[in-house]
Amino acid sequence: MAIQAWRDEARCVGMPNEMFFPEKITDNRFDAALKVCAGCPVTYECLMLVINLDDVDDRWGVFGDTTPKERRKIRDLMQKVTVREAMVKVHSDR
Ligand code: SF4
Repeated sequence: MAIQAWRDEARCVGMPNEMFFPEKITDNRFDAALKVCAGCPVTYECLMLVINLDDVDDRWGVFGDTTPKERRKIRDLMQKVTVREAMVKVHSDR
């Protein structure tokens, strides 16, 4: 799926950027954004956009229904399982 095609389906379109990229990064700061992501049909495509960008990840907020901390966990899990399986694991650990 081309980037623009999946972005057209994103549930966060038009929502405030600070909801997804808060100035101060703490786990509970992401709760509102994660609620939006939970109903988004393109979480996998969104996650794949950033999953390999670990050098800048801590400055970024919510992508693909994951926090920066959860993406670090997914990267660790990717040594053994697929990204989709890793997503399921971090979501079940919430
Ligand atoms: S998964 Fe979340 S951040 Fe990504 S497009 Fe969907 S709503 Fe937006």
